[in-house]
Amino acid sequence: MSISQLARSIVDSPTLRLNEEARLLRERGLPVIHLGIGEPKNKAPINAILSAANKLNSGDIKYTPTDGTPSLKKAIIKYTEENYNRIVAPENVIVTNGAKQSLFNVIYSLVDPQDEVIILAPYWVSYPEMVKMVYGVPIIVTPKDGTFYPRMEDILEAVSSYTKAIIVNNPNNPSGMVFPPEFIGDLVEFCESKGIYLIMDDIYHRLVFDGTKAVPGYQFTQKDIESTKVIVTNGVSKIYGMTGFRIGWVIANRRLVEVMTNVQAQMTSNPATILQSAAEGALNGIQSYVESLRLTIENNRNVIMQELRSFNGIRVPEPQGAFYCLPDFRAYQDNSVELADFLLKKALVVAVPGIEFGIEGHLRLSFSGTVKDITEGIARMKWALDPESPREIYIGDRKMIRDWL
Ligand code: PMP
Repeated sequence: MSISQLARSIVDSPTLRLNEEARLLRERGLPVIHLGIGEPKNKAPINAILSAANKLNSGDIKYTPTDGTPSLKKAIIKYTEENYNRIVAPENVIVTNGAKQSLFNVIYSLVDPQDEVIILAPYWVSYPEMVKMVYGVPIIVTPKDGTFYPRMEDILEAVSSYTKAIIVNNPNNPSGMVFPPEFIGDLVEFCESKGIYLIMDDIYHRLVFDGTKAVPGYQFTQKDIESTKVIVTNGVSKIYGMTGFRIGWVIANRRLVEVMTNVQAQMTSNPATILQSAAEGALNGIQSYVESLRLTIENNRNVIMQELRSFNGIRVPEPQGAFYCLPDFRAYQDNSVELADFLLKKALVVAVPGIEFGIEGHLRLSFSGTVKDITEGIARMKWALDPESPREIYIGDRKMIRDWL
C-alpha cells in the first residue's frame, strides 16, 4: 500500500493513544487512574441538554449554513462582546467541529508551503502536526531561561521573512501558566507592526485561578476586527466541559472567515446541527455553571499541588489556569516516554510524556478529574518512584509491594 509522504509524517495524537490504552486496561478490569486526559468530569450544562433535546424533538434536523446557524453565531457574538469587549459581525464568526478544526482551518487558510509558524514550547501537541499538514514549517521557541513563560527576545530571534503566524495558548496546555499581560501586549504590538498573524487559542481562557486573568489579545490593539492580525479560536469543550459536543469557533476578519467557510464546505460542511443547538444553549444559559466548574478545577489544582509538594525531587511551577501541570521528573528519569510507560505498567497511572509537548524530562498531569483520582494517582506515583515512600500500597483491592527500589 502506498501512503502519502505527508500523511506518513504525521504522528498520532499521544493523548488519544493513551486514552485508548487506558480504556483497554480498564476493560480488563484493572483500576487505571487517568491523569492524562483533559476533560472535566461535570455533566453537560442543563441548558445545553435542553436545547439539544428540543432540536432533536423537533425532528427538523437538516444541514445548516456551513459556518454555523445564525442563532449560534448570535450567541458567540454576545459571548465575544461580554468576554472580549469586541463587537463583531456574523461575517467575522465561523463555527467549527471543535476548536481543533478551528485551528486547522486557520492554519490551512493562512499558511503556504514553506511558511513558518512560531509555536511556543511547551506547546499543545497538535500545533506542529497541523502546520506540517499544510506543508508549513513549525518553528519551536523554547524559553531560554528554563521557565514556562515565553520571552519576546526568544521569539524575535526565531522570526524570519517566512514567519506567517505565531500561535499562543493562554492559559497554557500543558504548563497551566497564564502569560503576563505585558507579554501579550508586546506580542500583539509586534505582530500588528510586522503583519504577522497572532492566533490566540483561548480554549481555557475563563479557567483561571487566584484572581488571575488571561487577558485577550484584542485589549492591546486599536485596529478593528477587519484589519487586526489577532485571530481568536475558542469553543465550548473546556469552559463548559462539553468536550464530546465538538463545537468550536473562530473570530477573524471577513475575508479569512469566507475562505475558511469554503474550506470547511468542501471538507466537513456544517458542524452537527443538534450539537450547535447544544452550544447555543450553553452560551445563552446560566453562566454560574462556568464559575462552579472553575472553582472545582481550582480546588483540584490546590489538591494536586499539595500532593506534589511532598513528592521528593519533583519541581513544579504552580498552574494559574487550564487543568494541567507539568512537573519536572528528571530527578527520577530523563526519558519521559519511558517514565510514562513505567508508571502505567507499575502503578496503573496514565500521565502524558513531556516530550510530546516539546519538553523532555517532564510529565503532564491533568487535574480535571476527581480529587480521589488525583490523590490516589499521585500516591501511586510516589510509591513507584520515591524510595522514601512506603513500600506497600493498595492498587484497587490488591496490596502491592515495591520490589524495584
Ligand atoms: N487547543 C488546546 C490547547 C486544547 O487543549 C484543545 C483540546 N485538548 C483544543 C485546542 C481542542 O479543543 P476541541 O476539543 O474543542 O477540539
